Amino acid sequence: MKCGSMAQFLSDYLDHELDPRFCEKINRHKRLCGPCKDFISSLKMTLKTLKNSSSPRPSSQIRTKLRRALERIEKHSK
Ligand SMILES: [Zn+2]
Repeated sequence: MKCGSMAQFLSDYLDHELDPRFCEKINRHKRLCGPCKDFISSLKMTLKTLKNSSSPRPSSQIRTKLRRALERIEKHSK
């Protein structure tokens, strides 16, 4: 799986709504791809921080950050 095709699944993956088969693909890609691994760890950190914050709408902040980060990954994968 390429970074670009992985990117579209990541949002759901981070929400734990994704089909387990895709989770497995993402996990496998993560082990082979340094940039995506770093990206996912920092994203999980961001999610944790936002969930613990008192922000009324953390999910929209997460989506914005996610979208920007995914754009970076898609560029890097080309
Ligand atoms: Zn990758």
